[in-house]
Amino acid sequence: MSELAPRRLRALGEIGVSQLRHIGPKRTEALNSLGLHTVFDLVTLYPRRYIDRTRRVDLSDLMIGDEAAVFGEVTSVTSRRTRQGKSLVDVSIVDHGETMKIAFFNQPWRAGQLVAGVQAIFFGKVSDFRGTRQMTNPVVDVVVGTSGEERDASRVGGIVALYPASGKAGVTSWEMGGFIEESLKRAGPLLDPLDERLRRDHSLVERTAAFWGIHLPRDMADVAPARRRLVFDEFLRLQLLLALRRRRLEESAAGVRHPFDEHDLDVTPGSLESEESSLVRQFLTAHRFALTRAQRRVLAEIGRDMASALPMHRLLQGDVGSGKTVVALATLLMCLDGGRQGAFMAPTEVLAEQHAAALRGDLAGLKVVDASVLGGEREVVVQLLTGRVKGKERLAVLSGLRNGGVDIVVGTHALLGDDVRFRSLGTVVIDEQHRFGVEQRAVLRDKGRAHSDEAIDADLLVMTATPIPRTAAMVLFGDLDRSVLDEMPAGRRAIATSWARSSPEEQSAWQLVRDEVAAGRRAYVICPLVEASERVEATSAVAERTRLATNELRGLSVGLLHGQMKSVEKDEVMSQFRAGEIQVLVATVVIEVGVDVAQASVIVIEDAWRFGLAQLHQLRGRVGRGDAQSYCYLLGEAPNEEGRSRLEALVASNDGFALAEVDLDLRGEGTLLGARQRGRSDLRLASLRRDEGILNEARTLALELVSSDALTANPELLDELRLFVDDEEAQYLFRS
Ligand code: ADP
Ligand code: MG
Repeated sequence: MSELAPRRLRALGEIGVSQLRHIGPKRTEALNSLGLHTVFDLVTLYPRRYIDRTRRVDLSDLMIGDEAAVFGEVTSVTSRRTRQGKSLVDVSIVDHGETMKIAFFNQPWRAGQLVAGVQAIFFGKVSDFRGTRQMTNPVVDVVVGTSGEERDASRVGGIVALYPASGKAGVTSWEMGGFIEESLKRAGPLLDPLDERLRRDHSLVERTAAFWGIHLPRDMADVAPARRRLVFDEFLRLQLLLALRRRRLEESAAGVRHPFDEHDLDVTPGSLESEESSLVRQFLTAHRFALTRAQRRVLAEIGRDMASALPMHRLLQGDVGSGKTVVALATLLMCLDGGRQGAFMAPTEVLAEQHAAALRGDLAGLKVVDASVLGGEREVVVQLLTGRVKGKERLAVLSGLRNGGVDIVVGTHALLGDDVRFRSLGTVVIDEQHRFGVEQRAVLRDKGRAHSDEAIDADLLVMTATPIPRTAAMVLFGDLDRSVLDEMPAGRRAIATSWARSSPEEQSAWQLVRDEVAAGRRAYVICPLVEASERVEATSAVAERTRLATNELRGLSVGLLHGQMKSVEKDEVMSQFRAGEIQVLVATVVIEVGVDVAQASVIVIEDAWRFGLAQLHQLRGRVGRGDAQSYCYLLGEAPNEEGRSRLEALVASNDGFALAEVDLDLRGEGTLLGARQRGRSDLRLASLRRDEGILNEARTLALELVSSDALTANPELLDELRLFVDDEEAQYLFRS
């Protein structure tokens, strides 16, 4: 083995698991069903935890009440029914001559799993049962099953790595460990793409040692450095890919320089402005409020991107209510100042229409140059393009986009349509970016080049209120520049949030709704989330509206908004609510993002525990948008601990970013990364919570390697990136 040239990591991805000893067709199938196809998959399946058998916990040392992990061999198993009719499986285990009893209630299948001779680890609390120590319903990790595996006693003697075993596929943790050990032996020495200097600079152990150290540590002290190295590699690969994508984009860019003068941001609202000034300046001067410091700073960052020859590729993060819309508007105007068109995409029709209406109001009176009209200038034209804009109306918008008669188009994903072409698309702003996929972002961006007479790369600004922890943003949006609105407009009062768990508390919530409405303000009531279907959800919203209108909210004007309504109806309801003809709006989550009605001061969220934390924060953000004190009521008891934690977190904090950190803790990062990560996810070991420091180091190194071209001189490192991109992308990224 030692004669072999060191192997590249990617080579392990080419050895199927069936080529390993002891793995026949049945095992192969079982492993495949767990997503484990190659030797690479096996060696990057990392232990969940370890049992240190070198420092044995003697069964006799265990105290009643201890939480313990106990290793033992099953000596006997009996199953019966208790007098209450529950199934009970009694298991006896022995370790070094000491015995212990384990009881399983309502898990009759344990009798088949834990037959005599099986060795397993039991995690649980030690209790006293009629004078003997016992564990009840512990977590079980079968280490050695009975199905003809090799029983290598020496392996049970040291440190035992425990793998996510699968009862369903019939692979025990112990077998998995065996396959992985075999994989490592077969792989032999692995090539290390980081040379000694780099390893020293970043305190990294050598790669082969890292794999052995994490899977087969001789000492628990081997694990941490091994893990550090492997986590570093994961982050480095990911950040290299992001940096490469970014560089490719820049190399091939046909960007435009939009005119921008930072002084235009420093205006006094309400003063007089000459029509000669830039549109940005005229707009800000005429606007009803002054920019916050954060808005000004962010607009300067955006302006510099807009003025540069490289296309902007920027993410704007700002908590709910921080005032992203005005930033979007000013950005679009910078583009209009250069004589080009802008597109503004929102995730829902309700939001697109709200934006279009607001834009028309805010831009009224602004003029653009248009040689085709008499006098050479005309007012800025804003048009809406959503799924419901049809027929002649739609054709008119499309032709306006083509001939330049429309300056700004606001729309939903209808903007992505193939027949949507521009004369000269200069800037794209996407609101609530988290609702769109990476692909949609790319399609809209490409419109500038592929669907525009002037083939240029549009500048792109994506905005999101979903607060993403910094580390996660580096992973998810590492190819974007980032601006943050970290300040709320002045005069905002914190929304008072309470959790109404009891019926009297709930009654006082409804009382407050009545009081606020009596004072001329408005309220939202959010109906429970129904996973079943939008239709069922709509039905329950209809019922809830009727119930409230005849009971708690009798005498008030109660409206209804749900996803099954026609767009025209939705519009009508929203405008009645804005106008105050509807005082209370009973709605499903259709209002979740972006809806802006400043007079709304209460939101009551029914069955609040059913919503995710980010969603709750978004919903709450529908109020507190004016000067009045606003309130949020969360109704209903939470049936589980996680639900309780979420609601408590929401009561405790109004800060979206703080809540995002809590969310990451509660849900883990899987959900966050899962859907959005393109291609095969490489983050198998890294934790965004624990490993922020390593992430920073890896990112810095990745940027250095890409910008200094050191990567080209390191074909081994480039080679392993191929594990995570498909061929097409590899060609695009790696051609030199
Ligand atoms: P979001 O970031 O959630 O999209 P919006 O852009 O909808 O926030 O702004 C929230 C509310 O704050 C709106 O009613 C808007 O008019 C108002 N607003 C935005 N910027 C300012 C500011 N600088 N001063 C006062 N009010 C502002
Ligand atoms: Mg918004």
